[in-house]
Amino acid sequence: MKKTRKHDLNLDQIHFRKGELVKEVEDLSGENLFGCYQCGTCSAGCPYVDDMDLTPDEVIRYVILGRDEVLHSKTIWLCSSCFTCAERCPRDINITRIMEALRQIILRKNIDYTHLEKISQKEKRSIPQLAFVSLFRKNIG
Ligand code: SF4
Ligand code: SF4
Repeated sequence: MKKTRKHDLNLDQIHFRKGELVKEVEDLSGENLFGCYQCGTCSAGCPYVDDMDLTPDEVIRYVILGRDEVLHSKTIWLCSSCFTCAERCPRDINITRIMEALRQIILRKNIDYTHLEKISQKEKRSIPQLAFVSLFRKNIG
C-alpha cells in the first residue's frame, strides 16, 4: 500500500468545514456512509487495490472523518467503476457511487486530473481504447 501524497492537482480551492465532506458525498452519491462497518469486503474484491494508495474502505473512513486528503488520493481515479465492491458490500453501500462523488467534487471545480495534451502519441497508440472511454466517462460524470 502506497502512502497518499499530494499530486499536481491544485485543490486549494476545495475546503470543507467539519461534517461537510461526508454530507456532500452523501448528497452526490445518495449513499449512507455511516452504514459502513469497515469489514473490508469491498477492498478484498477490488481488482485495483494493489495500486491504490487508500483502499476503498479507507476512502469511506477518511470521508466520514472529514480527512479531505482523500481528494488527493490516486484511488478515486484508479477506480474503474466495475461495481464489484458495490455488489459484495454486506451493507448494500454502493462504493462505486462514492468514488464517483469524490471525482465530481474535484471536476465540478473545473480541475481536471488528466492532462490530455500530455499524453504522447506513443501512449495514445498503446493505451487500450477502453481506458480512454473510462477516462472520458469519469470526466463528464
Ligand atoms: S464492504 Fe461495505 S461495509 Fe464493508 S468496508 Fe466496504 S463499504 Fe464498508
Ligand atoms: S468499483 Fe472501483 S473501488 Fe469498487 S471494486 Fe471496482 S475498481 Fe474497486
